[in-house]
Amino acid sequence: MKFRTLAEYYEKLEGTSKRLELIDILSELFKKAKSDEIGKICYLIQGRVAPFFEPIEIGMAESMIAQSVSRAFDESKEDVLRLYRKLGNFGLAAQSLSNKKQATRDKLSVKEVFDELLRIAKFSGEGTVEKKVSTLSDLLKKVDPVSAKHIVNIPLDTLRLGIGDPTILDALSLSKNGDKTLRPILEDAYNKTSDLGFVAETFFKKGIGGIKNVKLVVGKPVRPALAERLPSADEAIKRLGKKFAAEPKFDGFRVQVHMDRRHLRGVPQAQHHLGGGGEGVILLFSRNLENTTHAFPDIVDGVKKEVKAKSAILEGEAIAYNPVTSEFLPFQETTKRRRKYKIEEMAKKLPLVLFAFDLLYLNGKDITQKPYKERRELLELIVSKNGDIVKIAEEKILKSAKEIAEFFNEAISEGLEGLMLKKLDSAYVAGGRGFHWIKFKRSQAGSLTDTLDCVLLGVYSGKGKRTEFGVGGLLVGVYDEKKDEFVSISRIGTGLTDEEFRKVNEISKHLRVQHKPARVNSNITPSHWVEPKVVLEIQADEITRSPIHTAGRDKEGLGYALRFPRLVKFREEDKRAEDATTVNEVIKLYNQQFAHHKK
Ligand code: ATP
Repeated sequence: MKFRTLAEYYEKLEGTSKRLELIDILSELFKKAKSDEIGKICYLIQGRVAPFFEPIEIGMAESMIAQSVSRAFDESKEDVLRLYRKLGNFGLAAQSLSNKKQATRDKLSVKEVFDELLRIAKFSGEGTVEKKVSTLSDLLKKVDPVSAKHIVNIPLDTLRLGIGDPTILDALSLSKNGDKTLRPILEDAYNKTSDLGFVAETFFKKGIGGIKNVKLVVGKPVRPALAERLPSADEAIKRLGKKFAAEPKFDGFRVQVHMDRRHLRGVPQAQHHLGGGGEGVILLFSRNLENTTHAFPDIVDGVKKEVKAKSAILEGEAIAYNPVTSEFLPFQETTKRRRKYKIEEMAKKLPLVLFAFDLLYLNGKDITQKPYKERRELLELIVSKNGDIVKIAEEKILKSAKEIAEFFNEAISEGLEGLMLKKLDSAYVAGGRGFHWIKFKRSQAGSLTDTLDCVLLGVYSGKGKRTEFGVGGLLVGVYDEKKDEFVSISRIGTGLTDEEFRKVNEISKHLRVQHKPARVNSNITPSHWVEPKVVLEIQADEITRSPIHTAGRDKEGLGYALRFPRLVKFREEDKRAEDATTVNEVIKLYNQQFAHHKK
């Protein structure tokens, strides 16, 4: 496919924010793609040249882009910048300058443009800036004006097509099958690998049979299994069966460890070499599947020494722990380990322990379909009994509500968050919230039994004392998974400390946009819209019905809202916007509050 054709589709996609139209346009585009192009097209549609979990960025900000555009079209950098300010977008500036040249420049294929952009991303060391600028300017000279516009928008992250992963999965199904019925099967493969390009290419090359056969791959993060909530232990037992596993719920952060002691092909760049002979890798991924290997050298070291397997993918919760007193430290301490600088120093000061709780892959085999009980037994076999850094999460096999209450109180008294109850015979459900895992958390009197993870949609300018914070209030929403959009659920004007208001200002400053962002559905207009990227954990007293908010809005125009919301934690580091609480969960929590009150 010519890149020019793809650029025309970018134009069409830009012209609508309606999900159904986006799916139709995408599926038309996918029909034109060959099997060795479809993966690249999926990455490019999302403005990337690699799956999101690979730390490959094109790495060119405005000044470098201005230089490339200036060189490509023989204009001074000042003129380019002037035009950019006039048109409000670098892509438009490049398009307009390219238009003036009038040569026929539409020869490059999608693959050629993709490879050039990838080459730009990979330049490093001395002379990087010059290499990037000259490669991009050469590329711009070879393409037509519309292509130039979109090529420039890719590194700047200003494509703003607003296409989420579920939309692409729907379009893939539609393109090959004429309907969206293959979406769940495609989604399964996506949940196992988190790699849209890989899923699309497998689908196009090997058909639906190939997709059903997709297995976990060391180096591609698995979308984590998630827990359900229930109002009482009795309800939980109904779902879990006569006998079930119970583990403490550690309040740290989730870590997915990928390890292979042998040489590996196709593993992302940021790999950690095991050293000492045979090549190998250890990679760590966070709850939102970001590669966090470099932030936790102590865990990498612990895995290397204390996990006895040729290859494995395992999961655990990392928490700051005092080995002398066997004391779990509070989340506020653990979270100090999430930092970019002085990593080694902090690792010594605040060592982490990884409490391993599941094994997904062992010695070359995907074991997610084995029952939990068996996976856990295998996990116990490969983790050293007396390791310092990787420990097995304690587990009790329980049978009654009374036993749940006892273990729950024990966990709470040790400073933990509560319990995780797990069905003994269930498979590992990648990317799914289900009743195979049920969480029971300590809750404050008068509050909902669980917190909500909300997406920041907008901010209100501060008044009075809050003027200096930059932010005086927040508009937050939840994720509507059916429509793949973010819907409003609450305004928050209190319940944050001065420091927290300042922090909201800090992290939202560069995400502010003038118009309501794509995929946001809200009837309320804040002082400033914010790209939906930041997740905040919110505790509320109650969920109420409300005509103001769009979350779960029914035919009568009633949505859901939060009563007395307050901030618990910033989750911007470990949750993507799509990992926020869903409308479906809000409705369940709303219904559960009545079950709770009745007791
Ligand atoms: P979720 O991850 O379900 O979206 P969340 O991040 O807000 O929600 P919780 O709802 O509090 O977290 O609980 C789930 C999380 O608890 C897991 O993602 C994991 O990080 C953590 N966790 C702690 N202990 C365990 C355990 N023993 N088994 C599984 N998960 C555990």
